[in-house]
Order: sequence, then C-alpha cells, then structure tokens
Amino acid sequence: MVTLNDFNFENKRALIRVDFNVPLNEDLEVTDTTRIEAAKPSIIKVLEDGGSVVLMSHLGRPKGAVDPKLSLSHIVDTASEIIGVNIKFVGDCVGAEVRKAVNALQAGEILLLENLRFYAQEESGDAEFSKQLAEWGDIYVNDAFGTAHRAHASTTIIAGYFSGNKCFGSLLSKEIEAIDKVLTSGEKPVTAILGGAKVSSKITIIENILDAIDHLIIGGGMTYTFIKAMGGEIGDSICELDKLDLATSLLEKAKEKGVSVHLPVDVLAASEFSNEADVQTTPVDQIPAGWQGLDAGPKTLEHFKSVILESKTILWNGPIGVFEMPNFAKGTIAMGTFVEEATKNGAFSLVGGGDSVAAVKQFGFADKVSYVSTGGGAMLESLEGKSLPGIAAILN
Ligand code: AMP
Repeated sequence: MVTLNDFNFENKRALIRVDFNVPLNEDLEVTDTTRIEAAKPSIIKVLEDGGSVVLMSHLGRPKGAVDPKLSLSHIVDTASEIIGVNIKFVGDCVGAEVRKAVNALQAGEILLLENLRFYAQEESGDAEFSKQLAEWGDIYVNDAFGTAHRAHASTTIIAGYFSGNKCFGSLLSKEIEAIDKVLTSGEKPVTAILGGAKVSSKITIIENILDAIDHLIIGGGMTYTFIKAMGGEIGDSICELDKLDLATSLLEKAKEKGVSVHLPVDVLAASEFSNEADVQTTPVDQIPAGWQGLDAGPKTLEHFKSVILESKTILWNGPIGVFEMPNFAKGTIAMGTFVEEATKNGAFSLVGGGDSVAAVKQFGFADKVSYVSTGGGAMLESLEGKSLPGIAAILN
C-alpha cells in the first residue's frame, strides 16, 4: 500500500482530497469537527516535509450548482484553528483564479478550494474536469474515506493523471488497515456484532464476512426476522416477512462454515414504539401480541458479554436496540462496555458503518475502542467485500 510516508514532499505541492463534508448549524458554524481533525495528520506530514498543500473537498449536496450556504469558506476558520495554520481560500476549484492562487502558494502554506460539487462534473466523474483539478498538485493524496466508494472526479478519475505520484493519506490507510485486520488478518476468535433495524440491509455483509469470523452476534431489530423464521412468537416486533427464507438460509450457511451464531434469548418488550411505553422482559420467542422487542434483555447481555470477552478481533456494526430512546439504549451501552473491556484486554475492535458510529460517539466509547470508521457507506461497502473505486484508483 503506497502511503504518503513513501514520499518526501519537500518543495512539492500535495493535492489532497479530504472529506470536509462537516455539519453546519443555521449560523453556518461547524458543529462536528471530527472529519477535519481526521485529515490533520496527512496535512501536517506534507508541511513538515517542506511542501505546500492544496485541499479539495465537497460539502453537502449542492447538485452541481453554486449554493452560498454550502461554500467551504464557512469552515476556513475552524479548519485553520485545528490545523494550526491560516488556511487560504479560493472561491472556485478550477479556472484562472485558482491557477493564480496555486502558483502563489509557498512551502508551508495551505490553500482550500471551493466546494467541488458546485460542478456537476465532480459527481459524474468527468475526465476534463478531473484533468483540470489534477493541475493543482505534483502528488495526489486521497484521504477521503467517506467518498472512497464513489467514482467521482476528485476521488477516482483524477488518480489517472498521477501515475507513480499518488498515494493514500494517513486516514484512508488507517481505514484500509482496520478493515484488513478484521476481514483477513484478524487474530482469532473473530466476532462480528451486527445490529440495526433490518436484515435486508445487512445480507451482503453477513454473506461476505462468514468466511472471516468465528462468532456472529445478531441483535437489534433484525433479530425478529430470524426468530420468526425459527418459529418464535415475536408479537408486533419489527420483521421482514419476505426475508424469512433468507434468514433461515443465512443461519444454515453460518453453520456450514463453522460460525457460531448468537441470537438474543430475552428482550425488553414495549407496549408501543415509544420511550414512555410499558416494558416487560420476555423470552425472545414468546413476545405477547401487541408488544414489540426494542432492546436486548439481561440474559442475552450476559451471554453476549462472554462471547465478546473471549474475542481477539471484534467488528461492530449496528445498535442492538432502539438506542435513540433512553429506556431502550441500555443494551447498546452495555455492549459498548463489553467491547471496551475486550479492547483493554488486547482485542482489536472496529466500529463502523452508520448508526453504530453515532451510538459509540453518543455514549462516549469512541476513544475506548481500537478504531471508529469515518465512512458510513464506504465502510459498509468494504464489509460487503466490494472494491472501492477511490482505493482501486490509487492501487492501479
Ligand atoms: P441500521 O441503520 O440498519 O444500523 O439501523 C439502525 C436503527 O435500528 C436505529 O435507528 C435503531 O433505533 C434501530 N433499531 C435497533 N433495534 C431495533 C428494534 N428492536 N426495533 C426497531 N428498530 C430498532
């Protein structure tokens, strides 16, 4: 894997695709700086080598037209503070004005280009647009894991103009290493915890990871499709009736491959889908009509804990209850403490993809696991075993 540590950037201009797609409030202030902080190590490496940096990113979904609310100028102050260098900004990403700003850039300086998605050519992966962007750097660095699953101009097509002078940034290489640790080189036993609402969104992931794992813990809303398929009574719990056969065949496949599947044995059943609902603990396969399982029960958590604590590699995707409601967040929080404890004991733990990241952040576990992925869709596609175009373009 070619990373930016393989290059010396002295007197070179690094063109770095970062993911500065950060949330802004109504006053256009950055409300979560995680992605800017994640891009810092790559930027600092280039500056410390004695090079200069041109940063490019998208922000929001302007759909190919200029939208002042989505200008990257709104993040310049915050990013300057985090990086510790006054970042220069130019109000376009291609054209004469940019050329002038790029040519004036000195070693140690950073220039941020305007939102790439103000041009429709970014998302369509237009070759001419990619070529124009490519003029702004001597070495292309892709550090935007969040968009690595998109074949856009700045994430993929552009790499074709940097033969031999392209590499992964430190964030992107960390993401690739973390996925590799779980799917190919993980110390055994390897355990995947899969939760979330629906089995339909996790089918490809389950099929792809069965060869890599020893234990599969299933939790959250998708539990009930499996329990129903096994003949259990699930009351009014969320269930995908058209996926019952599929659930059965996934369980059979797991068995064939020697993977131990762990499903909840008891649940917190609620009288309605509400934090204020009446609650009772019931066996997972005996939920009364009119009640729905919204969180894992105590016996389940005890069992999941024992599996997690004997694991050496852990992948966690998806909450195991309706964590947005405090009364049904306890199971997900407990799972966080088990993963934290396993990590302290030396296990490698990766949390990635969608709501599980929101959950670990919300409950303060983000710095207690080995790695929290920064890319929702990109992480899910990696776990599905797909080759991501942004990664392939650097490897080619
Ligand atoms: P996903 O995006 O597939 O990871 O699903 C995450 C969502 O699943 C969260 O919003 C949770 O509230 C929801 N969820 C987890 N457990 C349940 C459940 N037992 N019933 C309904 N929704 C659930």
